[in-house]
Amino acid sequence: MFKLKNIARENILSLQPYSSARDEFSGNTGIFLDANENPFGKLNRYPDPYQKEVKQKLAELKEINTENIFVGNGSDEVIDLSYRIFCNPNKDKALTFTPTYGMYDVAAAINAVELIKVPLTSEFQIDLNLVKNFLSDSTLKLIFICSPNNPTGNLINNATIEYLLKQFKGIVIIDEAYIDFSTSESWIKRIAQYPNLIVSQTFSKAWGLAAARIGTAYANKDIIQLFNKVKPPYNVSELNQQAAINTLSNEAVFKQNLQIIKDEKEKLITELNLLKQVIKVYPSDANFLLIEVRDANKIYDELVNQKIITRNRNNIIQNCIRITIGTPKENMQLISAFKNISI
Ligand SMILES: *Cc1c(COP(=O)(O)O)cnc(C)c1O
Repeated sequence: MFKLKNIARENILSLQPYSSARDEFSGNTGIFLDANENPFGKLNRYPDPYQKEVKQKLAELKEINTENIFVGNGSDEVIDLSYRIFCNPNKDKALTFTPTYGMYDVAAAINAVELIKVPLTSEFQIDLNLVKNFLSDSTLKLIFICSPNNPTGNLINNATIEYLLKQFKGIVIIDEAYIDFSTSESWIKRIAQYPNLIVSQTFSKAWGLAAARIGTAYANKDIIQLFNKVKPPYNVSELNQQAAINTLSNEAVFKQNLQIIKDEKEKLITELNLLKQVIKVYPSDANFLLIEVRDANKIYDELVNQKIITRNRNNIIQNCIRITIGTPKENMQLISAFKNISI
């Protein structure tokens, strides 16, 4: 059985968090002489440490309680805090499935945690036979599953994820950075069912706020409380919170842009398949396409020469390039640029 107190680090469970002025008094009206702020100016006050307004809007949108939401400085903060909460440095381990998002590896290294990398199958799915032996290791605390996966673009099989959630006694983090582009339902709906599930999402992709650095985690409230204890008190700036609130208030724009990106993806798949340099366009549930080409290094360079920057993934998946869906005009320019390449 999963027990949070057996999985989280002891020093984090017993941690006495920093108590900010805004923790002790959180009303909106009054004369505030408690936080050594400057009484003059527009951005002179510390922001809400728990981002209540952002969470209220997210709670309505996702149909869950605010106590199940954590807001971070990008989902990269969610990844980093997960290591810090659950993995003792130089002792505990985490596991992920490669090729995948590079930050799981970097954040593991920063936190002195060994990250076990289990290769995905040729269809970029999880092979449970390769994972089973690791699940009983009591020092394995975290499993990262990126779905839709970056850079492959595909969703990970639901039954496989469910198996891991049930069999693994540690934490399963499902990174859903691209879920809004996908045909699949979010795992957020299953949080009540799985006390060891953390779902991570971001404002950086479908919500178009990469510059604002806002990531979210959804989990059981005991897990969220640990995140709140460990995070820096004012981890999301007032400007960023306002950006999130404004964007969430304008769902029509979000939906419209999302639809354009999805339509453009379909068009781009058709166009790319007609190009002589393209061997394969992988199916995608995200806002990017992984394509196999004849000579990725050459094609990447030739595109750069025409001022079109893609992501060369040749060193990770042979002869593959990852292309983000742009505006209709940008996508047209990409196709024209391909046609100028003479291989
Ligand atoms: C882009 C991306 C993120 C977003 O990270 P932020 O810090 O929120 O910008 C998270 N996970 C994956 C897999 C991504 O590709």
